[in-house]
Amino acid sequence: MATVTTPKNAFLHGRWTIEEAAKLYGLADWGKGYVGVNQAGNVTVLPTKDPTRQIDLAEVISGLRERGIHTPVLLRFNDILEHRLREIRKSFDDAITEQQYTGGYCCVYPIKVNQQRHICEQVANLAVQLQFGLEAGSKPELLAVLGLSAVAGGPGVNGMPIICNGFKDSEFIETVILATKLGRNIIPVVEKFSELELIVKHAKAYGVRPRIGLRVKLSSKGAGRWESSAGVRSKFGLFISEVITAVEYLRKHEMLDCLNLLHCHVGSQLFDIRVLKNAINELTHIYCELSKMGAGLTMLDIGGGMGVDYDGSQSAWHSSINYTVQEYAADVVYRIKAVCDDAKVTHPTILTESGRAMVAYGSVLVMDVLGTSRFEADPDMPAIEAAMKLEQEVPQPVLDLLDTYVNLTDRNLVEAFHDSTQARDEAMSLFSLGYISLQMRAAAERLFWAIGHKILERASKKSELPDEFESLPESLSDIYFCNFSLFQSMPDSWAIDQLFPIVPIHRLNEQPTRHGVLSDITCDSDGKIDHFVDKRIDKKTLELHEVKNLPGDEIGVEPYYIGVFLLGAYQEILGDLHNLLGDTHAVHISLGETGWEIDEVIDGDTVEEVLQYVQYDIADMKRAMRLDIEAACRQNRLTLAEGKSLMKYYDDGLEGYTYLET
Ligand SMILES: *Cc1c(COP(=O)(O)O)cnc(C)c1O
Repeated sequence: MATVTTPKNAFLHGRWTIEEAAKLYGLADWGKGYVGVNQAGNVTVLPTKDPTRQIDLAEVISGLRERGIHTPVLLRFNDILEHRLREIRKSFDDAITEQQYTGGYCCVYPIKVNQQRHICEQVANLAVQLQFGLEAGSKPELLAVLGLSAVAGGPGVNGMPIICNGFKDSEFIETVILATKLGRNIIPVVEKFSELELIVKHAKAYGVRPRIGLRVKLSSKGAGRWESSAGVRSKFGLFISEVITAVEYLRKHEMLDCLNLLHCHVGSQLFDIRVLKNAINELTHIYCELSKMGAGLTMLDIGGGMGVDYDGSQSAWHSSINYTVQEYAADVVYRIKAVCDDAKVTHPTILTESGRAMVAYGSVLVMDVLGTSRFEADPDMPAIEAAMKLEQEVPQPVLDLLDTYVNLTDRNLVEAFHDSTQARDEAMSLFSLGYISLQMRAAAERLFWAIGHKILERASKKSELPDEFESLPESLSDIYFCNFSLFQSMPDSWAIDQLFPIVPIHRLNEQPTRHGVLSDITCDSDGKIDHFVDKRIDKKTLELHEVKNLPGDEIGVEPYYIGVFLLGAYQEILGDLHNLLGDTHAVHISLGETGWEIDEVIDGDTVEEVLQYVQYDIADMKRAMRLDIEAACRQNRLTLAEGKSLMKYYDDGLEGYTYLET
């Protein structure tokens, strides 16, 4: 439920209410209780889902501005992260109690989902409390996790499971074995057979009894975008024949008791829970068989994949999921218990590596709108008439468009649409052939847009939009230019058409009157968002508010802020430096006694930093600029004052933010 504080006078702004806004943007559907709207029309975050403790996002943004921290800014809510982890813990605890399951549960956080230190440290601290663990998938991640688990401190650290997936070399495994000797509860998961040989070799050399996991290639297929994570053709894990060989190999080396964990991972964002059920069924059967063969198994690790309902539709579709955390937990526990009970095998400790489900909700990007571009509904008839007077002969397509525009009625909408499209096309080809002037081409364009708007307005009044006009709303929608890079802040939107919920964070007490798509500030035409979450349809434009120009001769627009939600998983690390737009600022916000508080400010990349990343020498560049300016001053192309200003802009620019500062 999105929480809506009902205004005392719901009719204050015409008939539009914040309840309608909440419904329009689907806050309750995808927000899952973490997002609401308050009486002032601002979007709020409810970090603990408690409606009496809301954080007003517009207030946070203006508070940050006062401190000199400008958008785009990524807000991270520590309390949401904690709430999510506790919710996962509780869901499994409840399922375990209800079903009288005798094993435990542990969620390990795969740091690849978001390796940012502040996120990982918080997860590590909570992991000690909640008996969760961490997962590493590469050498750098292993070293990070070993450090993190030391920093987390406390008596629980050495018990905290550390799972090592991914491919490992000899050095990696030697580190793992030594960390075991140090006292860490570290479990390397064998992805290919040679890793097992290395584990046995190093364990013997150091006299360590390691805890070993095996990743199994299941015959159950994964599903969705990450389908190839599972199945016999997957790049990971051992064939069943290799699993049997591994058991014999360990038996031969008197280490079969070290085989403690069985692992699979069937893909990320599993939208249909049936896929997972099949995989768990198969994995648990293998678990039981291996137990009977004498393996010292105690843990069943079903990998990640717990999804997030990005579009709020609760359906088996890429950006959604058809289950809740509670249902996920209940199903997992039920399946494992059923198979183990049948086989009379002790219930294992269940591990999940639910990265996305832990961290996705915790981060929100807020960006400012820099300006808009419109396909006007008003053709500006006086200007068209004036232009026509200057023509010797007004071109036929322009006359046709004019005629269509003037004579449009409810009865001839389809005809008008076809006629105007044809006339517009004719006008464009005549222009290319040099037969009509630039002024007449402009008139044709404006008339065409105006006819489109008129058709749309009239057609929308009649219930469903006829198929012919399906493309009209999109092709006539506004373009909102936003201060961000899609490639840096939401790369999955570009790479895999992932949908993220997007909502203006203020003015929700006003009815949005525009439809728009969003463009970023990269010079890449792919840097745009033209698909939006909706419960029912593929939505190609977003309802937005009119953005007014600043009054007087001031250049620019009034502040308008748009929030992109559920960005906590994968987006930060997959983001890239396209156009050298760097990391945004990130600010940790928490609930304090009296309101929101800033816990941490992580400055975004400076221009200098991104240039150095691509090997520029800043000192060299400054020296070269200074000499060039000096020469220009000598030759009187610049005054000394101008030279000084340019040098100052250059220096300040290098130290500044990579985004536009408005
Ligand atoms: C990526 C990955 C995960 C995390 O998956 P989510 O969908 O984020 O839960 C877990 N385990 C393994 C082995 C992975 O590769």
